[in-house]
Amino acid sequence: MLGLYIHVPFCKKICDYCDFHAFPAPEWLKLEYLDLVLREVSAFAESHPGALSAVETLYVGGGTPSMLTPEQMSRFFAIFADAGVDFSRLKEATFEFNPESCDAERLAVAQECGITRASLGLQSLHQNLLDRVGRHHDVQTGMRALDLLLSRGNLRVNADLMFDLPGQSLGDLLEDVQWLAGSGVGHISLYGLKVDPARRLGIRVSKGLETVDEDLYAEMYLKSVETLEKCGFSRYETSNFARGGEESLHNLNYWNRGEYLAFGPSAHGFYEGVRFYAPERYAGWRDYVKKGCPREGLTLDTLTPEDVAAEYVQLSLRTKYGMRVQTLENLGFKVPESAFLRWVSEGYAELSGGVFRLVGKGWIFMDTVVLDIYSKME
Ligand code: SF4
Repeated sequence: MLGLYIHVPFCKKICDYCDFHAFPAPEWLKLEYLDLVLREVSAFAESHPGALSAVETLYVGGGTPSMLTPEQMSRFFAIFADAGVDFSRLKEATFEFNPESCDAERLAVAQECGITRASLGLQSLHQNLLDRVGRHHDVQTGMRALDLLLSRGNLRVNADLMFDLPGQSLGDLLEDVQWLAGSGVGHISLYGLKVDPARRLGIRVSKGLETVDEDLYAEMYLKSVETLEKCGFSRYETSNFARGGEESLHNLNYWNRGEYLAFGPSAHGFYEGVRFYAPERYAGWRDYVKKGCPREGLTLDTLTPEDVAAEYVQLSLRTKYGMRVQTLENLGFKVPESAFLRWVSEGYAELSGGVFRLVGKGWIFMDTVVLDIYSKME
């Protein structure tokens, strides 16, 4: 399955923990961005005739795509339709909204243009926690945005929540999880806060002005999973939970090592067996596009057989479907059974029907298990 990811790098205000490529932009810059995206996608369509018509899933992320005005959104979607993306045959088309720019007009444009799934950056339903991480929106705006998205019967809705925020108690988190699970959304993404020492929040933490209780991380995650499962949500990837049939096809394609095209600054793609990205910062991306998107302007990562096998281990173990021992062998690599059984005996994983998958606290130590299995590959 071929996916398409487009990065819209604008946000009204930068959250104190943000490590995405995002910045506040005046109108003229948004117009320039649309022009550059048009040139980038046109250059690709010219060098790869017919490729865009094979796209089956679309994800518009950021930043905050809903920072585009309704008129800019129409132009944005038209760029991709004109370049060959057939919106009528997409199996899924997701657009990210932030609460402060999620309104009826933008939603109407998105749906008219073929968006079938919305993802809302709620993060928390506690005002003091939103304030402590520098989120732009308030709880009331978040609730209003969620109500609006849920009022559209033919729209699938995801909402993002964060945990291990400064000052967040286990009770605060579970209250949010429980409420959101009963709100009508079909999908919840749950991310632990990562404190980047270079960001405002990280600087406050390093100066002792703010604290994040890392000891709560595991308990918060495991208790949230328990709550979500009781509410009918299944964890199909370490941070993603869905009611039956609500899984994100676009993201599953990433974890299945499917290919996807990518446009916009900092968007990463995978096409014809090569992982690639254009210059990640806006200014560098602008220069690259203005030069006509030369292939030598891309960072290309051609995968060796060992890279492919390592990716397979790493990505498949993120999901509830786990890794097939036979698939790894078909890729030319073997892991001694004792390496799997060690994690099984410690209660971190199970091995059944030739499939090795994480269980229980194994999800917390996923990186350790992956590294260990990877190091035993021969
Ligand atoms: S909304 Fe997301 S992308 Fe924008 S600043 Fe906040 S964390 Fe970064």
